[in-house]
Amino acid sequence: MVRQYELIEQVRKYNPKADVGLLNRAYVYSMKAHGDQRRASGEAYLIHPLAVAEILADMRLDEASLAAGLLHDTLEDTLASYDELLKLFGKEVADLCEGVTKLSKISFEDKSVEQAENFRKLLLAMSQDIRVLLIKLADRLHNMRTIEAKKPESQKKTAKETMEIYAPLADRIGLHALKAELEDRAFKVLEPEEHANLSAKMEEWRTQDNLVGRVVGVLKDEFKKAGIKAEVNGREKAFYSIYSKMVRKSLAFDQLTDIVAYRVMVDSKRDCYEVLGLLHDRFKAIPGRFKDYISAPKPNGYQSLHTSVVGPFGNRMEVQIRTGEMHDVAENGVAAHWLYKPAKGGEAEQSKASPYRWLRGMLEQMQGVDDPKEFYENAKMELFSDNVYAFTPKGDLIALPRGATVLDFAFAVHSNVGMRTVSAKINGAVVPLRRQVDNGDMVEIVTSSNQTPNPGWREIVVSNRAKSAINRYLRTQERDEQVRLGREILDKASRRDGWHWDVKQVAHVAPKLPVQNIKDADDVFAALGQGRLFPRQIFDVLYPQDKTLPLDETIDIKAPKNKKKKGEESQNLSGDEAVGLEGIMGGMAVHFAKCCSPLPGEDVVGIISTGRGISVHMKTCKNLEQFADQPDRWLPVKWSKTALEGEARAFVCRLRFHLANDPGALASVASTVANLDANIVEIFTEHRGVDSTTVRCEIEIRTKDHLNRLITNLTALKQVLRVEKIYAWN
Ligand code: MN
Repeated sequence: MVRQYELIEQVRKYNPKADVGLLNRAYVYSMKAHGDQRRASGEAYLIHPLAVAEILADMRLDEASLAAGLLHDTLEDTLASYDELLKLFGKEVADLCEGVTKLSKISFEDKSVEQAENFRKLLLAMSQDIRVLLIKLADRLHNMRTIEAKKPESQKKTAKETMEIYAPLADRIGLHALKAELEDRAFKVLEPEEHANLSAKMEEWRTQDNLVGRVVGVLKDEFKKAGIKAEVNGREKAFYSIYSKMVRKSLAFDQLTDIVAYRVMVDSKRDCYEVLGLLHDRFKAIPGRFKDYISAPKPNGYQSLHTSVVGPFGNRMEVQIRTGEMHDVAENGVAAHWLYKPAKGGEAEQSKASPYRWLRGMLEQMQGVDDPKEFYENAKMELFSDNVYAFTPKGDLIALPRGATVLDFAFAVHSNVGMRTVSAKINGAVVPLRRQVDNGDMVEIVTSSNQTPNPGWREIVVSNRAKSAINRYLRTQERDEQVRLGREILDKASRRDGWHWDVKQVAHVAPKLPVQNIKDADDVFAALGQGRLFPRQIFDVLYPQDKTLPLDETIDIKAPKNKKKKGEESQNLSGDEAVGLEGIMGGMAVHFAKCCSPLPGEDVVGIISTGRGISVHMKTCKNLEQFADQPDRWLPVKWSKTALEGEARAFVCRLRFHLANDPGALASVASTVANLDANIVEIFTEHRGVDSTTVRCEIEIRTKDHLNRLITNLTALKQVLRVEKIYAWN
């Protein structure tokens, strides 16, 4: 067991300026905090944090990491708080401790194999500072070294987690030796018999007449004779890697040719091929085992020549041939790419022996940077910054693109869940569907079988999966809705105006209608529903001779005025322009709310109604109050330029006239309306008094200004006492 003063000595060796005071304070604090806590082995708890700090010192980490190593279990297991650590040891140490505690809280129990990779990514993503991960790995390493004191079932759980999560993670960040040790220790717990078996065989194999030493000797002689400067060694492979190869390739121990990997290191690429030629000339090459990773490197940059030969003592042996530089990349993994720096002079020999060399490199680099945080920030794995990882209440891990909302989460769980989402909770608190998900959030989705996606959802999802599911649904839904609405519009208009239609007739006239892409009756209905077509246009084609519609009033209804200069053009409006609004997705059913009958020029807003498309209201409409607490349903809309210029289409607006009882009154109104290019659709007499009559009119009008001009001109008539726009609430 390491003691505090030994730890300090070790740190001073590689970092003479280390803040020894900080380490001593952290040690004393940890000792007091853990008090008389004991480990499962019965030993004082303090042994564990000290051992973790020692592993970190082996990695030659900075004093903040070591202090955090000493303190790493105080937040979880003692009364210590973040604020207290902050006060006593500063933000850097407190944050590291908190990070490690957070990582430790993630549970990996009962996770399927395919989720393991996601968990590893989660760990990386959550360790904002890579030192957090290093401390966590050191913690795990010491726990694995002392695992025998634990109960069998807890041993198995920890070993499984180590095998599936931590060993691959260590490998990923380039800690190959740490990975091998974690694997070997986990293997021993998970497969005790296999481990014992292999152990015995290895022991037997080792005692065989110093085979490795003799082989190395023979090879050295060969290279010397050929005048090639080469370093040769033979290293036993890790237990678990031997075992997994036996399993993977169904090999017996005796069939293994690579318990020891012989490595030949030379000065140049040319020498690599020369060594290869020599080996193949001197020994019998085993067919199919030669691989040239020098001319075709592995994706991670690994380069070497691999071959297997029948060696000088009849032994099959695997040989790797590489240069020193290739060796660095192979040993330091990913780390070599961002941290490799040629070792300087005396340091070189010593550092080659250390499996943590890349970390040493990292430290050397750090000393050249003013702010170590800045360095760690850069060193942080950028690899997974595009994703966030969150959990279902059952603990399943869901990977989402960065910026994803809880609604994306719902669709990622299953599109059937997404489609029926009514509300969501993050870590137990109710949140809006547009709330972004953070790493480690636990997200709970509440569904209802009555719920369906609405167009506003398109604005709050970022994942392709959610987007395409919503769009697919809405496209079908909107079409159905438009067809239904179009039928209703045609029905009402024909009943009101006293003419007849049936589906066959409509299908027949469909191609003759003045709107593009209309092939059958449903297309006609959909166009009506979208407002691209009006009942009167269908009537005109159905009854070309009949220019006047029968009406119960004597008012002459004119065909819609065509304000376009060049005749037919006005019929070829695009979807948006036909509706008169911008910001509406093509094909979305749009209704102008009857309650306020908005006109171009008036401020408007769209309300998304499930199964009914969008209702457009004036922003001052009283009916909007009922949607005040449903901001997800509000859709910003704007009048199109053509609508504002009165060129898009006519809008129906209801007016109330108070007329003097004068026989010519209605005629004057009608001609004033006609003179201003407006159009009376319907007239109802609401009230007939002694002196005056109240009349309600539906008038086709183009813009707010148009209406104002109309009202001004109407008010100027002596028979008109008053004119007002009608709202549902007055
Ligand atoms: Mn611990």
